[in-house]
Amino acid sequence: MINFEYARANSADAISQIAGDPTAKFIAGGTNLIDLMKEDVERPSRLIDISKLPLKAVEEMPEGGLRIGALVPNSDLAYHPLVAQRYPILASAILAGASAQLRNMASTGGNLLQRTRCYYFYDTATPCNKREPGSGCSAIGGLNRMHAILGTSDACIATHPSDMCVALAALDAKVHVAGPAGTRAIALVNFHRLPGDTPERDTNLAPNEIVTAVELPVPGFAANYTYLKIRDRLSYAFALVSVAAALELEGGAIKEARLALGGVAHKPWRDSSAEAALRGEAVNPTTFSHAADLVLRDAKGLEHNAFKIDLARRAIVRALTQAAAGTPQSQSNKKIR
Ligand SMILES: Cc1cc2nc3c(=O)[nH]c(=O)nc-3n(C[C@H](O)[C@H](O)[C@H](O)COP(=O)(O)OP(=O)(O)OC[C@H]3O[C@@H](n4cnc5c(N)ncnc54)[C@H](O)[C@@H]3O)c2cc1C
Ligand code: SF4
Repeated sequence: MINFEYARANSADAISQIAGDPTAKFIAGGTNLIDLMKEDVERPSRLIDISKLPLKAVEEMPEGGLRIGALVPNSDLAYHPLVAQRYPILASAILAGASAQLRNMASTGGNLLQRTRCYYFYDTATPCNKREPGSGCSAIGGLNRMHAILGTSDACIATHPSDMCVALAALDAKVHVAGPAGTRAIALVNFHRLPGDTPERDTNLAPNEIVTAVELPVPGFAANYTYLKIRDRLSYAFALVSVAAALELEGGAIKEARLALGGVAHKPWRDSSAEAALRGEAVNPTTFSHAADLVLRDAKGLEHNAFKIDLARRAIVRALTQAAAGTPQSQSNKKIR
């Protein structure tokens, strides 16, 4: 681990501190950044501690949505009564991730900005275009069981590891950010990037910007939803494939549908053509299989991850079936701290 400076930010100087030092990084819960520093993957010259900023509130918006401060811990968010009642798919996705201890430390903003779990990204002895642009991608011809099947490039096949972001994508969330030029809002589906030929850039957040909040619009799909996470172990493992499915039903037909996948791409994967194909259709296996085929029409597998295509197809059908039946995937509803 290299030497670094440490400074605590306040509301007045957080942006000027990050804007004044291009090699500095914000630190919130530290559960991802500190690991990356210990592995010599991230080498910030300075850590700007934002954990004391007043960004810890979950507030109701006038039109019925919620505004979640960037420093709300993942566990507080999952167990917040308004989230549990109105956006249970978000609570379910958060509780499918990490462990109780990690969720207590992890922040909303840090979860959005956590980096890939590609083994080669963490292994500084191997080439990796995300860690060292232009050095090559060790995963393409290597161990790629966890890697992406959609939206990949010749430069990178990494996946985004967050569970929370998959539910946020399905819910049409917006990310509020602030920087030297003022504030702006970015749709969650446009916040993370596909790798293209710049895999070193995970998101469209500028280096001198801070995430201040995440906004959830209505509806929350509290009646018919599922977050289904398929992984190697029942807990404490990242998704091989995950599916956030949310439906609004009317008289046995689908009035509105949202479908987002995790573990399959460099960003939470949403497919508007699959959602359009669900709208107005009857709830049945044929409808759900057709939507799954549409989501996966351009999927490509490599030597070790081709199994994910069939796994994703079956996970989509199962998640939609459970959502339609109002029987969400069970997550622990016990409050574990
Ligand atoms: C063993 C283990 C298992 C895990 N399993 C899962 C899992 O199954 N599913 C899952 O989704 N996650 C999992 N995680 C990841 C965990 O959710 C993240 O580490 C956590 O959400 C990061 O939040 P943090 O506040 O600790 O971020 P930090 O480590 O503090 O920061 C992460 C990044 O975000 C930046 N940052 C933080 N806040 C802001 C902000 N407000 N504005 C701008 N930049 C910011 C930092 O500069 C840094 O680059 C796991 C982690 C571990 C260690
Ligand atoms: S998949 Fe991406 S993160 Fe992994 S080795 Fe290739 S370039 Fe690096």
